[in-house]
Amino acid sequence: MNAHEPQDLPAIAGGEPAKRTPFGREKRYGEEELQQLREALEQGSLFYAHGNKVKTLEQQFAQMNGVPYAIACSSGTVGIHSALIATGLSPGDEVITAPITDMGSVIPILYQGAIPVFADLNPHTYTLLPESVEAHITSRTRAVLAVHLWGNACDLHALRDICRRHNLWLIEDCAQAFGCRYASEPVGTIGDIGCFSLNEFKHISCGDGGIVITRNETLARRLRLATDKCYSREPGVTQRNPTFLANNYRMTELQGAVALAQLPKLEGIVARRRRWCEALSERLRGLPSISLPQPTPGCEPSWWFYMLRVVPGALGADADAFAEALRAEGLPASAHYIGQCVYEYPIFTNHSAFERGTHAYSTRSYGKGLCPFAEAILDTCVILSVNEAYTETDLEETAHAIRRVVCWFRQCKGA
Ligand SMILES: *Cc1c(COP(=O)(O)O)cnc(C)c1O
Repeated sequence: MNAHEPQDLPAIAGGEPAKRTPFGREKRYGEEELQQLREALEQGSLFYAHGNKVKTLEQQFAQMNGVPYAIACSSGTVGIHSALIATGLSPGDEVITAPITDMGSVIPILYQGAIPVFADLNPHTYTLLPESVEAHITSRTRAVLAVHLWGNACDLHALRDICRRHNLWLIEDCAQAFGCRYASEPVGTIGDIGCFSLNEFKHISCGDGGIVITRNETLARRLRLATDKCYSREPGVTQRNPTFLANNYRMTELQGAVALAQLPKLEGIVARRRRWCEALSERLRGLPSISLPQPTPGCEPSWWFYMLRVVPGALGADADAFAEALRAEGLPASAHYIGQCVYEYPIFTNHSAFERGTHAYSTRSYGKGLCPFAEAILDTCVILSVNEAYTETDLEETAHAIRRVVCWFRQCKGA
């Protein structure tokens, strides 16, 4: 063997893939869900106001988070919409949010006729930079929608201070952050409202669903109305006397039943993801040319995915080449996450939310260049998908794959 040849050849250079065994997998749904579903059907009604699955889910989720109110709904997106409706967000108002997120964060802002305003992100935690949020506040700003990307909390105390000083609502998008804690408190309880998603891909799921929490009684009452056509459902009586525009965003007893069965599994799911991802960071620490995800100070993330960044000049490979080399090793890796910032989508650059008429966001121009840190994150990031069923072997093989690929690219540089 040539003295300059690397000892540990990566799969892209003809070596054996580092991943020799399939990743751990588990069935998400089982007997507990079936039992709850059977009980829901036996109630004879699948309507939330007549059954007790959704009610029990709401009580238990509120209790787990130490807040008095939880309101279930049909998706994470409409949970955020209901939160915005509850705060009275109106056409022409501005909401400051993050440029790297799911469309579910911004769709509701646009539906309210309001204007999404994008603040930049911390290059290492990938969450909102408080100073950028503050710099974007105008007389029309009404709310900050803080996205806890990858299960890592935003700098919530700084954001809360800013919101208090400027009299803004702080709404937390916790769709990726079930079980995440900030300053020892559950996320979703530090702002005025916290919004969670129960879609198929989140920490816990009922197929599709959402749940929203608050400590504020007035907001809780308006949240309930916002998910149910602004009808008020006193026990036994429905009052049809709507005072504001609200959709049918109700959760059915079937979703409630499955979500109820999933709730007790949450703590274990989060603990296992946390242990695995922290151990991976431990094994990769000090590796040159890549930067590891950094939890926000004071945060215990819940690791919805593991996102690292390459330093292309130092590594000798861009995110695409790095991700391809990791996939060749057998890792579930992909480059660039959502590809481009939300504000680069045609719906923003063309103001094409509606075919005709005027929407307040049309007065604003969107496109590349708005948030340089966020754009740089997407250019250089590689995502590893994470699952609570991943094993110790998965950990060793994953760490080995990343290390050997990094070493190989660095030695190859300029060769
Ligand atoms: C998943 C997700 C949403 C939307 O949730 P749905 O239940 O799919 O509507 C919103 N925001 C973020 C950050 C998400 O990851």
